[in-house]
Amino acid sequence: MVNCDFQLRDVGLRLGGNTILSGITFNLGKPELVALLGPNGAGKSTLMSILAGLRPAHEGTCLFQGVEVRRWDRARFARLVSFVPQAVRIDFPFTCEQVVLMGRTPHCAGMFETSADWDEVRRAMALTDTVAFRHRDFRTLSGGEKQRILLASALAQSPRVLLLDEPAAFLDLKHQLTLYELLREQCRQGLVVVTVTHDLNLAAGFCDRAILLHNGRIAADDAPHLALNEQTIADVYDVHAEFRQTGTGKTWITYGG
Ligand code: ADP
Ligand code: MG
Repeated sequence: MVNCDFQLRDVGLRLGGNTILSGITFNLGKPELVALLGPNGAGKSTLMSILAGLRPAHEGTCLFQGVEVRRWDRARFARLVSFVPQAVRIDFPFTCEQVVLMGRTPHCAGMFETSADWDEVRRAMALTDTVAFRHRDFRTLSGGEKQRILLASALAQSPRVLLLDEPAAFLDLKHQLTLYELLREQCRQGLVVVTVTHDLNLAAGFCDRAILLHNGRIAADDAPHLALNEQTIADVYDVHAEFRQTGTGKTWITYGG
């Protein structure tokens, strides 16, 4: 089993004279689905980019397998950790299949992809219900379709850790559910998955753990039913939340002003 431990100790970041993150301390290790939550500007995307090794100027330590993320060889790191940022722009006329194949880049030893690479591409496109877009120009897809192709590319990377920044933002209801079912299945297969979301019900319904960010600090880090309560939601989101039980025993969070 590959050790996929992240250990963060007192991670902080200042940008343009402002403190964006401070005192961020947590471990990731066992296969689990982690929701990273918090209002706009809380620092979620910044924290994800530190985990992905894209913000080397941060304070504190962010270790992956015992080595500072910023010191990892990028290709080796990319064979273990894949990251889908919140917004991705592709200006060239790549087909969707080519975009997914790009996920194999860290594994390609030579100039040409192998049949194993194509197997991974096909597997990832089947999992994300994107086979029908195979030959389409990526730029012509809707926002949600693009998100599913980018997820397919991240899965084709065959990582041990999957970092997803708002992967459900543009997805319709069915694809939100199938995304989270897919993420759960990836965890069952041993992956660590961190997903940024604003949907507290997806976090509570599917995730093992919720890390709640507020003004660049961790406000809660626990099982979702413990991290998300009336008080933490009021403190962090400034809304009044109510917790209801559905007929099937699920908890449903509703919120108003
Ligand atoms: P979230 O993803 O939680 O909505 P971000 O991590 O994108 O938040 O941003 C956190 C805060 O950092 C925001 O207030 C944002 O305006 C600020 N920020 C992000 N990038 C920069 C930058 N380059 N310079 C100054 N402030 C920034
Ligand atoms: Mg963000």
